[in-house]
Amino acid sequence: MAPLSEYNQQQKDAILMVRQYLSSLPNSELRWLRQRIKSYLQFRKVVNSFQDEHFADICSEKCFTSRTSACCGREGIITFFADVVINVLLSTSKEIDTLLETLEGDTGGFNCVYLNESGCLWRCKPIVCEMFLCDHAKNLVLAENKRLASQWQGFCRRKRMYTWPTRPVLFDELEVLFLNGGFDSPLMYLHKSPGLLRLKAKNGLGQKRS
Ligand code: SF4
Ligand code: SF4
Repeated sequence: MAPLSEYNQQQKDAILMVRQYLSSLPNSELRWLRQRIKSYLQFRKVVNSFQDEHFADICSEKCFTSRTSACCGREGIITFFADVVINVLLSTSKEIDTLLETLEGDTGGFNCVYLNESGCLWRCKPIVCEMFLCDHAKNLVLAENKRLASQWQGFCRRKRMYTWPTRPVLFDELEVLFLNGGFDSPLMYLHKSPGLLRLKAKNGLGQKRS
């Protein structure tokens, strides 16, 4: 079997370590974690409904019927470590196995490794995927409708409350949880990306782990 690409290997390692650590946690801590991500999941639900209501037809017509979506290109998205944590937390063991098998059995092509005939294999896809709208879709839906444009801007601001470390944010907190548990991953961008580290330092967040 050919070696995995660096991208696939990093994804696989992250999924495995998250599964290992979560399975070692007592139920009380898992309950706490599920409670901790509740407001984020509510946010995701609202964004998803918005996308379904206003973009599903456009996306279907432009991309999915022709299978040329610019949204799901090969190795085209950044997956945050917190994306993996949240997805594993919400997935069944079989769904996680499917992700791992998909990464291992990847035969290349132009599409994201996680895209199959019925769509994305993630139960809760990465935030970058959820929030991506191409210019074509934005122009058709948002350019002419100030109310929808303002709603979308509100979602973008809310996304930053979970991901953008100018204050303590969920995505940073989830990385810390695993770092403190002795795990490490290149997907921990809030602890690895020089730009995000500078942003944290500027906002007095530093490298502190609780
Ligand atoms: S957002 Fe744009 S690129 Fe993505 S599926 Fe919709 S129309 Fe296609
Ligand atoms: S993870 Fe899912 S939504 Fe994101 S690019 Fe891949 S198939 Fe598309």
